[in-house]
Amino acid sequence: MKEILAQLGISSQNKGTSTGNHWLAGSGSELESFSPVDGQLIATVQPTDDASYNNVVNTALEAYTTWRTFPAPKRGEIVRQIGDALRANKTNLGKLVSYEMGKSLQEGYGEVQEMIDICDFAVGLSRQLYGLTMHSERPLHRMYEQWHPLGITGIISAFNFPVAVWSWNSALAWVCGNVCIWKPSEKTPLCAIAVQHIVAEVFKKNDVPEGVCCLVQGGRDLGEKLAADERVALVSATGSTRMGKAVAQTVAARLGRSLLELGGNNAIIISEHADLGIALPGAVFGAVGTAGQRCTTTRRLIIHESVYEAFTQKLVKAYGQLRIGNPLDEHNHVGPLIDKDAVTQYLNAIENCKQQGGRFVVEGAVLEGSGYESGCYVKPCIAEVNSQLPVVTQETFAPILYLLKYKTLDEAIALQNAVPQGLSSAIMTLNLREAEQFLSYAGSDCGIANVNIGTSGAEIGGAFGGEKETGGGRESGSDAWKAYMRRQTNTINYSTQLPLAQGIKFDL
Ligand code: NAD
Repeated sequence: MKEILAQLGISSQNKGTSTGNHWLAGSGSELESFSPVDGQLIATVQPTDDASYNNVVNTALEAYTTWRTFPAPKRGEIVRQIGDALRANKTNLGKLVSYEMGKSLQEGYGEVQEMIDICDFAVGLSRQLYGLTMHSERPLHRMYEQWHPLGITGIISAFNFPVAVWSWNSALAWVCGNVCIWKPSEKTPLCAIAVQHIVAEVFKKNDVPEGVCCLVQGGRDLGEKLAADERVALVSATGSTRMGKAVAQTVAARLGRSLLELGGNNAIIISEHADLGIALPGAVFGAVGTAGQRCTTTRRLIIHESVYEAFTQKLVKAYGQLRIGNPLDEHNHVGPLIDKDAVTQYLNAIENCKQQGGRFVVEGAVLEGSGYESGCYVKPCIAEVNSQLPVVTQETFAPILYLLKYKTLDEAIALQNAVPQGLSSAIMTLNLREAEQFLSYAGSDCGIANVNIGTSGAEIGGAFGGEKETGGGRESGSDAWKAYMRRQTNTINYSTQLPLAQGIKFDL
């Protein structure tokens, strides 16, 4: 790993603040990045202090006046080169993601692939930032709308997707003409430094001024500062609902814009008409992938009573075959949780579930012994619950799966919707009526609703995000780019008169 770190520009002590190719000194207690894989200290990072923060924001504001003059397709061309630079660094960066965050190597590579894919998407988008034209009610007048950049996009990201979420935001924000300031999770500061080196190099090659891609590092305080900063036009924040509520209120108080991607509590309905051969891997991967630390992780299975026993048995058997261990070893299915706090939350949720009446058919435990020295490896577990106990309605960021039984589809949909979060949902059924009911206005209330695919993960081509406590934001594909731009309506009079709208007369 040492060699990989060096190739990615990471040493044992790193500056954490950057305007692109320039790295600024900060001050304060160093961020320490420990790998959950083996518990080792990987490296330290100097956090951003007030002076370096202001330097970054001022440089970004200055850069914006230049960057917005680049034609959008030219900005797209630079983003295309960023995609190529990521391709060249995919193996190293994927390994670092796996080592610093703890997800499996395949998922680490997959995360970098997602960055590449969104760059490709953004390249095409740079020629498609379309506005509408309208017919004016007045003669010899023309109306149309155009989309302009906003300025600084602040990106606050979570530990579980330490690089991909940033790219969903930045690739779009850049082709739209914005400059970006990234505040990554304090739990994964090194992934951000590696990405910053890769991207800044591309901007330099293209003579783009410092300040278009900026990095600041720190914890909650720094996120709060970014949210409160009137110079930051859009704050895109990914993380817990607790964080999102705080950011939303701070940004709203200054009438800024926020884009929120928060917690999920995702369910799969497994109908009596399900193809259980699809439902099983969909449910198991959804529940245990990334050790249950995806916003789209499957946390609840709502199973029809006629297939409940058979499906539960299949699940228990499948869980018995899971290999838990070092995520860099591709034979393992499940890696560690991010840190010991996450392990405590996992244990608390199990305890609460038991106290509230849940019955575990696969018991949880913290793994000990050789290979598990970091203390972050836990056993994925499954609990049967008769109803949505309080613990079931919360998002515990760990591999705990709750099973619920249903009789009618109406009941299943009601259960699926009866949680505060609204990110991802799925139904496993071969019955057309059931599938359509689930997808209708009276069906799932989530931002993502799938049929015969689990809840976990999503393609970059669609708009990603969810409702209710998930925050309502949409990122990535479809027309999510509109969140990074301001719309301007233009009316042009090419007549010799000044007719007013709504027939109003104003004779002088
Ligand atoms: P977290 O909320 O603890 O931290 C996320 C980021 O917010 C970090 O950078 C943190 O420093 C910052 N932050 C924390 N409090 C803040 C505040 N008051 N003001 C400003 N910034 C603040 O989340 P986490 O533990 O890193 O990530 C897990 C959570 O993220 C889960 O709830 C998961 O569902 C969610 N998540 C959602 C999505 C999505 O797209 N909906 C994607 C990934 C993760």
